[in-house]
Amino acid sequence: MTDATLIDGNAFSAGLRDRIRAQVHTLRETRRITPGLAVVLVGEDPASQVYVRSKHKRTVETGMESFVHTLPADTPEDELLTLIAGLNRDPQVHGILVQLPLPRHIDAQKVIEAIDPAKDVDGFHPVNVGRLAAGGEALVPCTPYGSLLLLKDRLGDLSGLEAVVIGRSNIVGKPMAQLLLQENCTVTIAHSRTRDLPAVVRRADIVVAAVGKPEMVRGDWLKPGCTVIDVGINRVAKPAPEEGTRLVGDVAFAEAVTVAGAITPVPGGVGPMTIACLLRNTLVACARQNRLPLDA
Ligand code: NDP
Repeated sequence: MTDATLIDGNAFSAGLRDRIRAQVHTLRETRRITPGLAVVLVGEDPASQVYVRSKHKRTVETGMESFVHTLPADTPEDELLTLIAGLNRDPQVHGILVQLPLPRHIDAQKVIEAIDPAKDVDGFHPVNVGRLAAGGEALVPCTPYGSLLLLKDRLGDLSGLEAVVIGRSNIVGKPMAQLLLQENCTVTIAHSRTRDLPAVVRRADIVVAAVGKPEMVRGDWLKPGCTVIDVGINRVAKPAPEEGTRLVGDVAFAEAVTVAGAITPVPGGVGPMTIACLLRNTLVACARQNRLPLDA
């Protein structure tokens, strides 16, 4: 059997960012509106600092305004809520993202709920979660939306396909399942209490792994020809005698690639889609706030 096709998230996300850049240009030229994204970082978590820097860079590249607010780790919750209230009122800011995780003394759910749902470009506010579930104009979480775009690009119509989502987090697993349901898939959500996970996964035409366990999903769990979206990003030690670390997904890639029909690599699969979809959400939020039609 031939190896699976690699789903190239770098190439797809570059194309998406190009389309967003063109739309931002048109908005600026024809309406004098520049979409603006505010990113709030509390504390000095090194991974979060890297994410915020790349969000800023990509935002600026597409011609949008980027407002980065960096606050010390001991910022009181009230101060953060006051900043968010100001961003909610600011007409130059169309999207607000508070980088997670937050320091422990801050209630993350309270902060998420303080963001105006119309500016909630992470799609975590209960209003957006509800709209995604019930139908309506939601802002959809970026990683699952990016995963869906890759799936539709690869498979076209997803109607009737069996999809298994492994993981039920609010950030990835649950919204992914909702999106696949909207696409008329038959959706199973698996989690740490699922019995006989390999047997559940073996039914799937589409497997989305969002677990956070390096290479947990084995090649012999997969139905031959299935499409695998590996959301996991795990840093592990390189095999001896090499030194240092490398990134792997939640799927044992070397095994899966010989069974699946198509698979996202890690890195270079889902990862780059997340920021591209954040930019898309900012553009969509800006268009909706200005009551402009948009095909993004
Ligand atoms: P969470 O830790 O919030 O959720 C993990 C989920 O996996 C839980 O629902 C958990 O089940 C389930 N799980 C844990 N162990 C098992 C197991 N042995 N069998 C079956 N299910 C299991 O993680 P996230 O959803 O936030 O992230 C998942 C992965 O995706 C991580 O590697 C993360 O780094 C990556 N990620 C990547 C992004 C990207 O841009 N590409 C963005 C966001 C995340 P239970 O609920 O029962 O505990």
